[in-house]
Amino acid sequence: MTIRTRFAPSPTGYLHVGGARTALYSWLFARKHGGKFILRIEDTDLTRSTAESVNAILEGMTWLGLEYDEGPFYQTDRFARYDEVIRKLLDEGKAYRCSCSKERLDKLREEQMARKEKPRYDGYCRNRDVSPDEPHVIRFRNPTEGEVIIDDLIRGRIIVSNRELDDLIIRRSDGSPTYNLTVVVDDWDMGITHVIRGDDHINNTPRQINILKALGAPIPKYAHVPMILGEDGSRLSKRHGATSVMEYRNMGYLPEALLNYLVRLGWSHGEQEIFSVDEMIEYFELENVNRAPSTFNPEKLLWLNQQYIMKDDPARIAHLLSPHMGERDIDPATGPDLVDVVKLLQERASTLVEMAEQAEFFYRDFEEYEPKAAKNHLRPVAREPLEALREALAQLKDWTPEALQATISGVAEKLGLKMGKVGMPLRVAVSGKGASPSLDATLALLGREKTLARIDRALKYIEQREADAARTT
Ligand code: GLU
Repeated sequence: MTIRTRFAPSPTGYLHVGGARTALYSWLFARKHGGKFILRIEDTDLTRSTAESVNAILEGMTWLGLEYDEGPFYQTDRFARYDEVIRKLLDEGKAYRCSCSKERLDKLREEQMARKEKPRYDGYCRNRDVSPDEPHVIRFRNPTEGEVIIDDLIRGRIIVSNRELDDLIIRRSDGSPTYNLTVVVDDWDMGITHVIRGDDHINNTPRQINILKALGAPIPKYAHVPMILGEDGSRLSKRHGATSVMEYRNMGYLPEALLNYLVRLGWSHGEQEIFSVDEMIEYFELENVNRAPSTFNPEKLLWLNQQYIMKDDPARIAHLLSPHMGERDIDPATGPDLVDVVKLLQERASTLVEMAEQAEFFYRDFEEYEPKAAKNHLRPVAREPLEALREALAQLKDWTPEALQATISGVAEKLGLKMGKVGMPLRVAVSGKGASPSLDATLALLGREKTLARIDRALKYIEQREADAARTT
């Protein structure tokens, strides 16, 4: 049997990290078993579904690398098929028309609530043979006896008595099919063997199984993934921070870091924290998904991102960094090879946004010095070492890290200054900041022209500062 799983988002918003995790588990399970992963867009709610949302979901899945083998299938393309199935159920007496008014149903509900019963349809129209000409909905004739057994691959056995289920609506009065009907028809037609989805759907599962049975369709296996909570214990939502997959991309996260975080959120393999995608596929087991909800921890995600930035191939990072450079209007053609800059910054940035910020001075003159760095290091005492550096660097033959290092130490020695008194003004002069990667490597990449121009700029800045000070005293 070929394993077939699916991800079935409703396109009513962005791709949420919770949805992405469910998709990841479905995808991993299919990949692990040499199966197929299907994408289905559940867009029957015409008032809430949007094309932008479909695009956001597709974009998020592409960015994460969750490629699908079939689809995307759109439920709105399948109304004729749903009608056909509803007709079959009606013809076989497994569904019926119901013309109960809203008033009757409201009253029924109130009475049941007053008796402390669970509100449910009482089957009034079950045997009334309502005419198709009357306004009506269509209800599934749920069995009244027996029980539904679900051997959930995560939660274990769940037994639901049919007496607790009522005859649910499968077609609304406007003729549109309802969620439980469309999912059943699609899972059947698409040959889904394993339904892996959020546990907010667990109450639908026994109803869906009853409809599948009525249709004589095979029953897939189910795995309900527990939800994700925010750190205060309530369901993860925007108020806990970013919940959209693409927002993480925009904040400078690597897709592999987010995938790694999501796979570990509610699943484990011993003590291992870092998983390549191949390892995830190799080790992933639904049985090892936690039954309890998991808590989303942004610090841990940031930590993982930093680990990936440190260890990933510099060319790969440069590729992912480019759009963030673009965000800052930086054209990497105007400076050193981005891959070399990445190598210098890999240990120093926890997001690509930070890295782009740190990389900026290689490509563009900074607007201003970091105030504190300028105040401490671009002082009158820095003038002499900067002038000496300028002269020595202008004459330097080989613009290599070794030669640059020797030049800087040589200037310090000649002037009888500690390295810091020479290095720090130079660092602030070329980068605008009090912190940067090692000076020799930085200057080597920055090149002679930019280095000298920036030393000149710093010398002017110091002069101006002296002039200002003279005027105010
Ligand atoms: N469309 C449903 C949702 O987005 C999922 C349905 C399912 O996985 O069965 O919640």
